[in-house]
Amino acid sequence: LVFANTYSPLSSEELIAKEKANMDENRFNHCVRVSETARKLAELNDYDPEKAALAGFVHDYAKQVPVETYIEVIKSQNFDQDLLNWNRAIWHGIVGSYFIKKDLGITDPEILQAVYRHTTADVEMTTLDKIVFMADFIEPGRDFEGVEEAREITYANLDDGVGYQLAHTLEFLIEKRNKIYPRTLEAYNVWSIKK
Ligand code: GDP
Ligand code: FE
Ligand code: FE
Ligand code: FE
Repeated sequence: LVFANTYSPLSSEELIAKEKANMDENRFNHCVRVSETARKLAELNDYDPEKAALAGFVHDYAKQVPVETYIEVIKSQNFDQDLLNWNRAIWHGIVGSYFIKKDLGITDPEILQAVYRHTTADVEMTTLDKIVFMADFIEPGRDFEGVEEAREITYANLDDGVGYQLAHTLEFLIEKRNKIYPRTLEAYNVWSIKK
């Protein structure tokens, strides 16, 4: 596990220790695999691999933060109060970026934005946003119907991967009759419709 720590005042060891302390072992191992996958996608897409590896490593830093803590932060830190109608699945990216800044000292806006967008995607996405979004979906530990196709598509063309993931996620949410976060739907309309 290696990445540039030029984006955090912490040493790599401290950063890894903090991340480990904030989640269980399965989640930690997922973050390591996302980091490695993000590095590969960066190399294929002319992006800084060290920066992508760090963003991938921290992307789920706040995944296991307690609900009460999330609610406090949403109320006190000027977040859209509509977030209170959602849950940790949506919070850990959007509000997770706040914890990454506060606890890990990462202030780089590109990294914070990639974390912010990693669950819902967005209408406009930077290369780093797409890399983290896709690495999360295709890391080697993922096992769902279509994951091999998702990997092939994403390694061939990052934007096509984004479209594939959004269609897949929407299908999955509709199948379960879950609520669709409006930004996820807006992103689907941009990235996934057949042209
Ligand atoms: P993970 O954190 O590595 O498990 O992966 P993600 O951050 O991509 O996704 C977390 C969860 O959020 C997944 O179960 C997605 O299906 C779910 N999710 C993504 N978009 C939406 C949405 O619009 N609405 C709801 N309810 N859930 C969503
Ligand atoms: Fe996540
Ligand atoms: Fe994701
Ligand atoms: Fe993840």
